[in-house]
Formats: sequence, C-alpha cells, structure tokens
Amino acid sequence: MAGLLAEYEAIVGPDVIDQLRQLARILDGMNVVHVNSTKEGGGVAEILHRLIPLKKELGINAKWEVITGNKEFYQCTKLMHNALQGNRADISEEMLRNYEETVKENYEGLQRHLEDADIVIIHDPQPAALIASCPVRKGKWIWRCHIDVSHPYRQVWKYLRYFVSQYDASIWSLSEFAQPLPHPLYLIAPSIDPLSKKNIDVSSDDLEKVCMKYGLDPARPIITQVSRFDRFKDPVGVIHSYRLAKEFHPIQLVLAGGGASDDPEGEEVLAQVRFAADGDPDIHVLMLPSDDHLTINALQRVSDIVLQKSTREGFGLTVTEAMWKGKPVIGGDTGGIRLQVINHHTGFLVNTPEGAALRIRYLLKRREKLQKMGEKAHRFVLENFLITRHLREYLTLMVAVMFKRQDRIETQ
Ligand code: UDP
Repeated sequence: MAGLLAEYEAIVGPDVIDQLRQLARILDGMNVVHVNSTKEGGGVAEILHRLIPLKKELGINAKWEVITGNKEFYQCTKLMHNALQGNRADISEEMLRNYEETVKENYEGLQRHLEDADIVIIHDPQPAALIASCPVRKGKWIWRCHIDVSHPYRQVWKYLRYFVSQYDASIWSLSEFAQPLPHPLYLIAPSIDPLSKKNIDVSSDDLEKVCMKYGLDPARPIITQVSRFDRFKDPVGVIHSYRLAKEFHPIQLVLAGGGASDDPEGEEVLAQVRFAADGDPDIHVLMLPSDDHLTINALQRVSDIVLQKSTREGFGLTVTEAMWKGKPVIGGDTGGIRLQVINHHTGFLVNTPEGAALRIRYLLKRREKLQKMGEKAHRFVLENFLITRHLREYLTLMVAVMFKRQDRIETQ
C-alpha cells in the first residue's frame, strides 16, 4: 500500500507495519492532541515532527499544539527542568504565579482542541499545569516526561506533582525515572526516524561539501558532540577530553549546537564553550539553525566517534542518531544513554573527561574494534529505537487507556 508507512517496510519488514495498521484500526478517527513548548530544537520537537504525520496516516486525527510564554516563563520552566534533573533551584512564588498564569492563558487559546480531544498528551513540565484549567475533561490526559527525573530536587517535584497527579496516566523513558503517582505509569523509550533528513543516507559528495564548508580535514579523526548548549550536556567537559586525547592523536572536535526557543540558558553556555575552546583551530563550535538536519546528519556521518558526555540525559536522541549511522558513542553513564550505549558493545560509558579521553584513544588505535562497535550500534537501534516501535507503543497505550474496562479488544 502506498503512503508514508509503506516506505518503512523496507527497513522494518511488513509485519511491523501490519501490526501498526491493526492497532490503529481500533483508534480510527480518534482526536489526539500533543502539547509541548517548542516547535524547533531539542528531542521532543524532533520526535513530534515525525510522529504526528504517521499517526495521521494511520487514521488518527492527531494535532500538535505549542504553548508560548514570556522570558520569565521560560526562565522558570528551565529552572524546573534543571531541578527535575537534580539541581537545587529555588523558584520564587512570583515566578510560579507567572508560570501558572501563562499556562492558563495558553489554555484559553487551546481550549477548543483540548476539550474535543479523546486523548491529550502533554510533554514535559512546561505545559504540565494545563490540566488545572480543565477540571471537567471528556478525554484522557497523559503526561509524557522526557527528562531524567531519577533524582529530582524534591521541592520542585512536589510542586509539579500536584499537577502531574491529576493526569489519567504518565509515560516515562526509563523505569529509573518513574515517581510515585496515583495513576498508571507506562514506559516508552523515544526513537528516531530513519527516513527523516536527520537520518537518511547522505552522498559522499554532500559529506565532502560539509567538511569543506566547516573546514574539517577528512584525513584526520573527527570527534563530534551534537547538543543544545546546555550544562547537563557538559560541552566544556568534552573540550577537556579532546585536549587530553589530542596529545596522542591529531583529532578535530566538532561541537554542533543550536538554540531551542524554550531554552534561555544557551547563550551563556555557548560563551563558556567559546572561552574553553580558546581559539583552537581544531575545535569547531557550530551554531546551526534548528532545521539544518542535513548538516547534523553529515557531521555525524563524517565523525569517527560521537560523544554525548551528558551528566543527566532523559534519553539522548543524538546518541541514537549516531549509532544508527554506525558510530560508536562515548556517552555519560547516566539516564537514557545507559539504555543505548551498552558498555564495550555499542560504545563506552564514562563518568569523567579523563575517561572519555581514554576511550577516544582506545578506539582510534583499534580501528577494527571501532568499526565492529559501530555495526553493533546500528543493529541495536534497528531492533529497539526506530519510530515504528515507538508508534506501536503509543498506539498500544492509547488502546489501553481508552478501553481499559474491556478484557478483550478485537484488532480485526
Ligand atoms: N539537534 C539539532 N541541532 C542542534 C542540536 C540538536 O538538530 O544544533 C537535534 C539532535 O540532532 C537531536 C535533538 O536535537 O535530534 C536533541 O535531542 P536529545 O534527546 O539528544 O536532547 P534534548 O535536546 O532533547 O535534551
């Protein structure tokens, strides 16, 4: 059958696609609304851009809405984000009132869509309080948490928990993140889309062009980290690792990042990165537009090794993207990176810049090992982290929340 989904058959096989169609038949015509806080930049937007058209093709009336706010609102939600990932953050009453007011104003704009929906999926803390504006709900409301909340700063989690506990269910990327809540909790790992511009094959001509454009020498090893300029991604630690490994190999480092409209700290972290790079011509700090997927794709492909040295990570799509391209990933031993980087198999887990430098040296010296790890990494993503699996789990969850009182559901 023609259409977007048919294109995935070549990658995942016809059974996977048949199963999606069977599940979707039960949900035919259902209204589903996803809400987050940015259209561009970061993993959530990346996933929603791909998931919504696929749900639509499956006959689900899926929509994606974005809440907006002023500078103070994003400062507050970034503090919440940092606090949920473990930082102590004392958020003033005034900031919290502004947060609640902003979300309430957003609700008024979205009211029609949210009230009509059979299922509402709210992503992350920014729009979490929307539920408080909608006391009488027709549909099921689900909170989808994408961040590493394994050790949240209690005071902030307690505040958010008041909103989150009003949802009918919540979704988490890892069991370690799940918090006690009075509703069913589901585990769904994120995914990448192998057919997106970020992940499709790139011709060798185009790879060469990207190297030329950014002054990269393809004859010398390239180490890359792609990330928003966020402290939890530890870009300064990456520079430290590069310097330690550079004493042994003539490496080049690419730190490719860009802004997300809901992340107010990027500029500050970028300035720290530039300061740490100290004009080294082999450190390439690239600020790319958030829709420059082909460049990110090419940079990941021309790299010998990809780093994701985060100190907290909800999942780390950049890890999945690199592994899909057959690159071993040296990643921080934390959160969702642990789900993907199987130490010594698909890459290495590290805790310090020194550890990352040792692993860079190890792999650059053993090219055969590097190649084999990259192949395993690709297979691991194929089997676990493609969008078709993600979609299947979403559909199953939707069936579960919509028909939970039925003990038998016919799919044919
Ligand atoms: N990304 C991008 N341009 C950038 C930085 C990141 O397109 O300059 C993409 C990256 O390829 C990945 C997503 O943004 O698809 C980041 O997702 P991840 O889960 O790694 O981290 P998050 O930003 O959600 O914390």
